[in-house]
Order: sequence, then structure tokens, then C-alpha cells
Amino acid sequence: MSSTPQSVRGMQSLLGEEADRFHEVVAAFDRVRRLYGFRRVKVPVLEQTQVFARTMGETTDVVSKEMYSFEDKGGEQVTLRPEFTAGIARAFLSEGWQQHIPLKVATHGPAFRYERPQKGRFRQFHQLDAEIIGPAEPQADIELLAFADQLLKELGLGETAILKLNTLGDPATRAAWRNALHEHFAANVAALSEDSRTRLDRNPLRILDSKAHQDWPIVDSAPTIDEFLTAEAAEFFGELTEGLDRAGVRWERAPRLVRGLDYYRHTAFEFITDTLGAQGTVLAGGRYDGLIETLGGPHTPAVGWAAGIERLAMMIDAPQPERPDAAIVPMGEAAERRAAILIADLRRAGIAADLGLRGNMKKRMQRANASGARFAIIIGDSELEAGEAQLKDLASGEQRAVAFDLLASEIGR
Ligand code: ATP
Ligand code: MG
Repeated sequence: MSSTPQSVRGMQSLLGEEADRFHEVVAAFDRVRRLYGFRRVKVPVLEQTQVFARTMGETTDVVSKEMYSFEDKGGEQVTLRPEFTAGIARAFLSEGWQQHIPLKVATHGPAFRYERPQKGRFRQFHQLDAEIIGPAEPQADIELLAFADQLLKELGLGETAILKLNTLGDPATRAAWRNALHEHFAANVAALSEDSRTRLDRNPLRILDSKAHQDWPIVDSAPTIDEFLTAEAAEFFGELTEGLDRAGVRWERAPRLVRGLDYYRHTAFEFITDTLGAQGTVLAGGRYDGLIETLGGPHTPAVGWAAGIERLAMMIDAPQPERPDAAIVPMGEAAERRAAILIADLRRAGIAADLGLRGNMKKRMQRANASGARFAIIIGDSELEAGEAQLKDLASGEQRAVAFDLLASEIGR
């Protein structure tokens, strides 16, 4: 006997409440997306590997060890998307979306990273994603962050997920800070984790993002970017924070926050919670003015964020389970035949209806009650003769006869 196949490690299948939670997050996202005027986009799950390798940078964790990459049957190197931004930037260039600048877009769907599965960390996970491509002004960052903030508030996470905000400055700022960080970490190299030591020469900013506890004291004493901000970079950040205040978006300064990817400029942010253990980042993003150039496009400023749907779904209150409007309870064969016609009519009329055909009358009524339906529609021989059914309000217990033709409008009221 052959054994039953299991799911691929780190890939989930959801049913019931877990699937409902997931949907709740996506539904809220789609609602708020519309309020902020972000257009829907769809991009492929699969891209040429270079789309991610070039934009995200070879030294990032994602590119260096987490990508699902393979050669397809035509010999092309392809990768399952680990995030959305790179694919959207690729489409922006290859699909002629440049004519729509300034472009505000949003999407959601699965993303894939080969990492160690744990609470809030999967190999197939799902992201919400929002991007504004074109504007170089902080107004875009403000709008994007207000979108994120309103989404989290509508999900009931306004108090739990805190916006941590930083600036990574302009290229001059960043280069000066990078040198200072290199000096600081080089002086403490013996105490650093192995991961961080390998980052020292390639990208010392990434050490600030280290997950190794032993690095944290050294990270805490590292120079912050503030001493290196050019006047222009400081002005950008000032306008951003003032705009957030005006928009009613609460934020906290996190002077050592960096984002993994090399292309970030100015704004960098994360919404953090302490309710998910080490997987505390629920939504993160920043300004990526350099990214589209890495794909061979013209200099195009842009800012965006991504959020983990599973992490958000774990944090929200459990949604109300879906309930039918009516549960039909027929008694006898003739009633069952009439019920088959009725349920088709009700569903066409937009009424969610259930039909239980197993067990005796008592069992059927129990099931109707357990379904959470607002009404039971009871049909027996006498009802058939009169051309009506008993409509029972399951909350109040009230019951009255209603003609078959009028059931849909009665229930829909
Ligand atoms: P982390 O530090 O947790 O690894 P990250 O910086 O790699 O996160 P991003 O690339 O910024 O994550 O992706 C945006 C969001 O996607 C994260 O804030 C998180 O909510 C979610 N996310 C990232 N990787 C995973 C994963 N493997 N499983 C579930 N959610 C994830
Ligand atoms: Mg990661």
C-alpha cells in the first residue's frame, strides 16, 4: 500500500475559521484600496530569475538563500516570486505602464521563500502589496502610509501594530552612514555573529537588521543616520513626518531601522507587533527610487509596502462564521421534491439556503438550528396542500405560514 502524500513543508491548506480570517484580511485590503484610489494589478507568480536577483540584490537573504528557482523545460531560469515589487517594476517597463505615471497600484497573492517554517513564517505565504510609482515627493509616502495605517485600524490592529519609521537618506547620506557603520562594526567584529561578519564588507547596513541576539548590543551602540543626513534628506523626512501628523497617522522614530534591500532611499518603515514572537513585522516597506534603474529602466522614483496576510490573519478577532439565511426542513418524499424546487428558487433570488435530507424530523430541526440560519422553512403534507410553508424565526421561535412564492421576499426583508 502506498502512503498518502503530505503537503510540501511550509505550505498550508486552510479550512473554516482560518480560511475566513484570511478572507477578512483580503476583503479589508480591497475596501481600503479603493478608498485610496489604488488600481488593481495582477502580475505572474513566475518571473525570470534575474528580475529578483537584479532588483533585490545578491547579498539579501531572499536572493542568496530563500528563492525557489529552477530551470523550466525551455532552459529558462525562473523563480517563484518571493515578493511583488520586482514583478510590478518589471511589468511597469515591459508592459508599457509608464504611460500611466503617477501609477498607484495594489495587489495580493502567494509568495514563496525557502526558509525555516515556524509560527508566522511559511514557505508559501501571502502578501498584500501597494506601490506608488512616479512621484518623488513625500506626499506619496504619506498617502501610502495612511493607506497602511487605515487598513490596520480597520482590521482592529490600530493599537497592536505600531509604525516604526526611519529615513535612509539620499545616496550621499547613506554612503557616509555606511562608512561609519563599517568602522563601528569592524571595531567589534569579534563579538558579531557569523552572519553579520560576512555582511560587514558587503553590506554593513544589513547588520542592523540582524536576528542574532549576540549582535544586538553592538547594533544598539551603532551610530544612527541622523548625524549624516544632508539638508535635503532632512527636509524630506521633516515633510514626511509633518504630513503623517496631519493625516492622523501615529509613528515612532526607529533610528536604526533598515530594510534589507539595497535600493531603498529616504523612507523606510515597519509596522511591528509584539504578539507574534520573533515574527513581529506585519507590514513593511519604503521608498525605492533606485529599483527601476536596476532593471534597465529610466530613473523612476517609487514607494511601496507589503504585508503578510497570514500574520495579519492570526492577529485579528475571529470573523463571524458564514451562516445560511434559511434552512429548509421537508417532511416526506413529496415535500422533499418541492424543497428541491424551492431551494433553487431561493438561491437564484440571492438567499443563502441549506437543505437537510438526512435523519428524522427532530434531527433535521436540530441541524437547522445548528447551522445558525435565521429561518427554518418547514414543509409537510398539509403545507404542500395549502401551497405554503411554515417560516420559523429560529431566534425568536415565532412561526407563521407563508406562500411558497413569497418566501424569498419575506426572508430577504
Ligand atoms: P522577516 O524579517 O520576518 O523575515 P522580511 O523583511 O523578510 O520579514 P519582507 O520582505 O519585508 O519581509 O515582506 C513583507 C512582509 O511579508 C513581512 O513583513 C511579513 O509580514 C511577510 N513575510 C515575509 N516572509 C514571510 C514568510 N516566510 N512567511 C509569512 N510571512 C512572511
Ligand atoms: Mg525574511
